[in-house]
Amino acid sequence: IMSSDWGYDGQNGPEQWSKLYPIANGNNQSPIDIETSAVKHDTSLKPISISYNPAGAKEIVNVGHSFHVNFEDDKSVLKGGPLSDSYRLSQFHFHWGSTDEYGSEHLVDGAKYSAELHLVHWNSVKYSSAAEAISKPDGLAIIGVLIKVGQANAKLQKVLDALGEVKTKGKRAPFTNFDPSVLLPSSLDYWTYFGSLTHPPLHESVTWIVCKETISVSSEQLAQFRSLLSNTEGDKAVPIQHNNRPPQPVKGREVKASF
Ligand SMILES: [Zn+2]
Repeated sequence: IMSSDWGYDGQNGPEQWSKLYPIANGNNQSPIDIETSAVKHDTSLKPISISYNPAGAKEIVNVGHSFHVNFEDDKSVLKGGPLSDSYRLSQFHFHWGSTDEYGSEHLVDGAKYSAELHLVHWNSVKYSSAAEAISKPDGLAIIGVLIKVGQANAKLQKVLDALGEVKTKGKRAPFTNFDPSVLLPSSLDYWTYFGSLTHPPLHESVTWIVCKETISVSSEQLAQFRSLLSNTEGDKAVPIQHNNRPPQPVKGREVKASF
């Protein structure tokens, strides 16, 4: 199945994904609206431990519905928190909306944020590659950071400056010497629950770690996300206006807090 079979609008939009990907209606789908009154503080949850190697950053790629910054590295590691294994960073990316009023995938007590950062890691203790881990229940761990519109974020500028090199779908450019932990909020207090990838193939393979503290970007920086194009070079310009899946039913899942 080609990736163009799904998108974020109309006939290809999130409401239609279940036709090609029945797991879209599964019991562990993401994102969710985190209802803080239902969250349980779990004293057994450890702090998360992050060690990223700037030399692991390799390239930035326009994937048509977003852009990824890819890492190839055995020294960028996430462990601790709710995880019993060590997970290796494979890429980070963002989700955004067509206006500053929405764009995050996770909501908190119904509140929408303007964008969301996802740092994707795979279980390198049990599996030999991200491709192998992606469909396994303990395969992935994703850190989600909610992004508020406000002050410009200087830490994000290197990423935004690179977007011009990957304007259209399929373009890739070197992106090196970058430590994505500079994008994290100062507090790493988090909510955690078991869920899924937020776009096809929607595998239920993700231990989600959503930071309580937000980071900020300016309205101008959000507009730079939206200037990226979903078409291939030479075709009619179609900006990636929005790429956030709406919240999915919690279906009895427990969300735990480290704080
Ligand atoms: Zn994502």
